[in-house]
Amino acid sequence: MKTRAAVLYESGVAGPYKETEPLKIEHLDLKPPRRNELLIRVRAAGLCHSDLSVINGSRKRPTPMALGHEAAGEVVEVGEGSDGFAVGDHVVCYFVPSCGECLPCMEGRPALCESGAAANNKGEMLAGDRRLTKDEDDIHHHLGVSGFAEYAVVSKHSAVKVDTDIPFHELAVFGCAVITGLGAVINTAEVKPGSTVAVIGLGGIGMNTLLGAKLTGAREIIAIDMNEEKLQHAQKLGATATFHAQNENVVSNIREYTDGGVDYAFETAGAVPAMETAYHVTRRGGMTITSGLPDPQDQFSFPQVTLTSEERTVKGSYLGSCVPARDIPRFISLYKQGRLPIDHLLGDRISLNDINEGFDRLASGKVSRIIVEM
Ligand SMILES: [Zn+2]
Ligand SMILES: [Zn+2]
Repeated sequence: MKTRAAVLYESGVAGPYKETEPLKIEHLDLKPPRRNELLIRVRAAGLCHSDLSVINGSRKRPTPMALGHEAAGEVVEVGEGSDGFAVGDHVVCYFVPSCGECLPCMEGRPALCESGAAANNKGEMLAGDRRLTKDEDDIHHHLGVSGFAEYAVVSKHSAVKVDTDIPFHELAVFGCAVITGLGAVINTAEVKPGSTVAVIGLGGIGMNTLLGAKLTGAREIIAIDMNEEKLQHAQKLGATATFHAQNENVVSNIREYTDGGVDYAFETAGAVPAMETAYHVTRRGGMTITSGLPDPQDQFSFPQVTLTSEERTVKGSYLGSCVPARDIPRFISLYKQGRLPIDHLLGDRISLNDINEGFDRLASGKVSRIIVEM
């Protein structure tokens, strides 16, 4: 069948993207789903910083690639063996397919699936190969989803069946921003009620980290960013204090404000200076968690002695250490109860044709999540 999709032919092209158009809207051929795969009519997909880092070249991926990894849609065809899914189901896609058979999968850590990571790096499906072509040339898949498209073939291990009473533009963000941000708090750090939290970087993941801290009952939630508008938004969402990241005394100010630092500091910007701030505002015995994706060349250093003498923990969090099939329905349920105001994080809804301009707005530090609707 045919599908329209946003294809990146070359990464590293300079903006403004509205003019340089790194993403081309193409009519692609889409092969039918194979065993353990689903054909989905994509209804909504979020614009995420990790799409942007593929476009601007800071994360290298094979091209040409059909981008988009945070999507929700409706199942229109079910491949053989995809038990548990039926035509008409609403699904949220997530960006690491998990084989269920490798060591991390067997340990209950599907975010670290070895086969999933290998397929994602190659721009292939979990079962191998690609289902998208243009004039018989293969187009790579982005993280097993390629959601900036009218239709997508995804592994059944990239999708979770969800309730049908939530609009697709709200569902989409559960596939990346919500599970990454909330999961870092709940699964990776296991933040305890009454503790103190700092969030450094207030993009989609940072804001969800903040909501997660509020949900778990943190008594102090400190938001840190370079953007004044984002700091104000964080306050409305429950931040108890805000600090400007570029103030030269930001670390000492926060240490003073918290009487020695926070129990948990989350770095979500994917930048070494943000990670340094996160480490230095963590108190003795505290934990520094990063869910940001810096340039692979970037190096982070810290005084090693503090690990011992202050019993510090530094932890990475990928996909929020989530088990998506367990956590996405749980988080959606919290949203429906009004305890997780994801709708306050959503911004413009745009069409596929305006996607390059959408990435200009994301690159300029726009506050809310931009959603493409198909
Ligand atoms: Zn993402
Ligand atoms: Zn696996």
